[in-house]
Amino acid sequence: MTFLFKTGSFWLAALLSSAAGLSAQEIRPPVPGSSVPAAPAVSLAPPALAPDPTRLAKISQLGEVPDWNTLAAYNQTLTREEFETAWKSIYSAEGGLPPPFEITPSAVMVPTGDPTKPMVRIEFRTGATSPAKRQQFSWRSTRDLPPLKGRPPLSDLHIALDPGHIGGPWARMEERFLSFKPGESIQEGDLSLLTAQVLKERLMALGAVVTLVRDKPEPVTELRPPDFQDVALKTLIEAGVPKPLPTYEGVAGDAKILTVQWQTEKLFYRVSEIHARANKVNRQIKPDLVVCLHFNAESWGPSEAPQFSPQNHLHVLVNGCYAAVELEQADTRHEMFSRLFQRVHEEEIPLAAAVADGLADTTRLTPYVYTTPNARHAGKNPYVYARNLLANRLYQCPVVYLEPYVMNHEESYRRLLVGHFVGRTLIGGRLTTSAIEDYVRGVVQGLVSHYQSQRRSS
Ligand SMILES: [Zn+2]
Repeated sequence: MTFLFKTGSFWLAALLSSAAGLSAQEIRPPVPGSSVPAAPAVSLAPPALAPDPTRLAKISQLGEVPDWNTLAAYNQTLTREEFETAWKSIYSAEGGLPPPFEITPSAVMVPTGDPTKPMVRIEFRTGATSPAKRQQFSWRSTRDLPPLKGRPPLSDLHIALDPGHIGGPWARMEERFLSFKPGESIQEGDLSLLTAQVLKERLMALGAVVTLVRDKPEPVTELRPPDFQDVALKTLIEAGVPKPLPTYEGVAGDAKILTVQWQTEKLFYRVSEIHARANKVNRQIKPDLVVCLHFNAESWGPSEAPQFSPQNHLHVLVNGCYAAVELEQADTRHEMFSRLFQRVHEEEIPLAAAVADGLADTTRLTPYVYTTPNARHAGKNPYVYARNLLANRLYQCPVVYLEPYVMNHEESYRRLLVGHFVGRTLIGGRLTTSAIEDYVRGVVQGLVSHYQSQRRSS
């Protein structure tokens, strides 16, 4: 799951997040699903917020003031047409709100929010100048990898596998613990780690160098919920909750989100944790590609009495679809420009499509259909969407973010309870394959298909 308010409503959460300088796009609506008919556009539209020039100095929660000088490296890398196409078809939210930057014939002018240097200029490439060298990036594109020369298809490729969430004793706090019967349960953070461990062996056998961003059911961040007491309180006050309740003990439904405890926990397991993983990915691992491993879910109601969902589906995310309100944050704006000018989308979208096809083939899941404005299709593959998530924005390289299976779909739940195995076993009176094994095979199939067809052979 990306981010799911099992108890809250999408727009309550979005409003609170927006007021708190959070990304509303990182919040998923509680009842998505391919069979849910699209409601009239008017009821789904977010508040019509064009970027407000006086607010362009905002920083996202736990974010840092960006170094705008780094954008100078992208002078003369993209033509104006390339820039505009990427912005309109991937990075902007659909609906065409005015962007918080200005496109001139020769350059894009990006407001910094810093009154001492209010604007940076990134010059477009013209036919006469050559594209900047790629060495400035920490990752290599498919085309830049050494030729295969008959070696296994993933040779030289450095892949980081990022098992979503923390799992273990943290799963209940993360709201990613699911049990329909005493004595049995699944936890997304444990399933994603198991998937990563099995996948690592398979990818290594195909020549890849594989690093796990997390290799145990423990947080990567060294901070814990009590460290975020002040930030949580400030967030709630700024969101119009002057005297929030300290704990959610005895609090039901949406009101839980408005307590200091819930906010400190979310700052820990989501915001701080993803920042810590981003530091590890960007400074230590420096991979060519990150594959984020998740399992999806539909709203299951209260955790003590969860509900099965008839939905079961798959989708794959790339970075994009930035809402106007998110681009008011200086760090978010800087991150989007870095990704766009590094042409990350040119690597991410074909990779995502190949992995989506692999997963569709092995899992037989149908495409999830978003009915909210926080995602848009990227490219032609029906399984691939662009969304602005914390992980796929902060990791400074291509990221393919996987969301197969609905954990509270009854058959998926029963298969996931059994864990990983090869072959078939009897589940609910039927001979069935392992959902984890099908997940692993789908990713392998997709990556092999992409690199085998797209890498230089000699
Ligand atoms: Zn997840």
